[in-house]
Amino acid sequence: MMTDLTDLSLSEAREKLRRREISAVELTRATLARIEQRDPTLNAYLTVTGERALKRAEAADRALANGEDRPLLGVPLALKDILSTQGVETTCGSKILQGYTPVFSATVAQRLDDAGAILIGKTNLDEFAMGSSTENSAYGASRNPWDTERVPGGSSGGSAVAVAARMAQGAIGTDTGGSIRLPAAYCGIVGLKPSYGRVSRYGLVAFGSSLDCPGPMGRMVEDAARLLGVIAGRDPLDSTSMEAPVPDYRAALTGDVKGLRIGVPREYFVEGIQPEVEAAVRAAITQLEAMGAAVVEISLPNTDYAMPAYYIIAPAEASANLARFDGIRFGPRMMRGDMWATYKATRGEGFGPEVKRRIMLGTYALSAGYYDAYYGKAQQVRTLIKQDFDRAFEQVDVIAAPVSPSTAFKFGANVDDPIKMYLEDVFTIPASLAGVCGISVPCGKDGDHLPIGLQLIGGAFREETILRAAHAYEQATTWHTLAPA
Ligand code: GLN
Repeated sequence: MMTDLTDLSLSEAREKLRRREISAVELTRATLARIEQRDPTLNAYLTVTGERALKRAEAADRALANGEDRPLLGVPLALKDILSTQGVETTCGSKILQGYTPVFSATVAQRLDDAGAILIGKTNLDEFAMGSSTENSAYGASRNPWDTERVPGGSSGGSAVAVAARMAQGAIGTDTGGSIRLPAAYCGIVGLKPSYGRVSRYGLVAFGSSLDCPGPMGRMVEDAARLLGVIAGRDPLDSTSMEAPVPDYRAALTGDVKGLRIGVPREYFVEGIQPEVEAAVRAAITQLEAMGAAVVEISLPNTDYAMPAYYIIAPAEASANLARFDGIRFGPRMMRGDMWATYKATRGEGFGPEVKRRIMLGTYALSAGYYDAYYGKAQQVRTLIKQDFDRAFEQVDVIAAPVSPSTAFKFGANVDDPIKMYLEDVFTIPASLAGVCGISVPCGKDGDHLPIGLQLIGGAFREETILRAAHAYEQATTWHTLAPA
């Protein structure tokens, strides 16, 4: 017996809606009740769009009654608060955008809307998506539903918490260096970072323009496949979105990995990794092998240089992108004597410490005389990292690795040491720099009952391959069926 509608995965809910066994209003009400009950502790949401959602749900029920069918008709979804939503406050987790209400929607938000999804709210994040724990949010951190003394991962932590704690059927996050995969792993859900250019960035408030990728988060691989199918594809409003046709991702979920070649990069199993994480990931790889995949060891020799290159490139791009927030064009303005004083006060009070750190780092790396030494060099390293992946994907279809070296850490554990915080992303950043796709799928628990994620990385525009492998693994295991108390 189903006790609570919020326990339904996106795919299950969608099928029940389609068969009219449940209504969108019932499901939306149950989700809002759940948010009211859980979110005062978990802080996944910055904005809950309850009234608006119920109106949409009524409209969805009318459409369903008329026999209409759209891919997400009637399903409550959460969006990371860095995606512009027309008429709904969009803060990026920053004080500098408090009260800012976009006059247009991100293409991703628009496509979900067109597919019949119901926006239930905007989720918490590290300020401008800079961070790995949501501790950099100006609105307080989100809490991990498996252990509320621990971080949910970041930067898309609110989205991951919303999905894991049954406060949304699915969510959209963004991944610049790991921000979908890491919180998915820490919260025990599925998160997919699409290839760069697979999903439009139009209306996504830019952090690192050459790295940012919006992508799906859900309780099951099929949920991610459904969401990706809706948001992927060329967008004339984003010149870096690719023309490539969008495959039927659900059709790729065959449950079969026979003949699939899986590479295990030796650079991703190094000293310092939590033993339980390594054991769970290796067990998952053995499982895939038992199901007929061919497993080989591979090398991605430039892995060590990914982190340093990323922390030049991402801040450099951020420093340029964040120049637009000056109190004149968006958000609150701290009026002072003259224009310069106003800029200074607005940016000084509006941005948090991590954002300032990155603006300074990035501005320095781009300044005359240092540009070639830092930014130019980092771009060359990026090419080497991409070539590592190019070579690997001549040999294998999928690369299997941990998502991060450890499970969710306690609040405050890394805040005084930015480098330690940056290291949470050592295993996710290389794929981001290379522009390839990756998925995190639950593969175990550690001694503290915290979820562990398996990362499956695929070549550019091979989302169907990682979805297929992740789904086959998921169907053979029960990790995805576990829910936080
Ligand atoms: N944690 C990484 C950073 O702070 C990645 C963030 C992201 O992917 N948005 O930059």
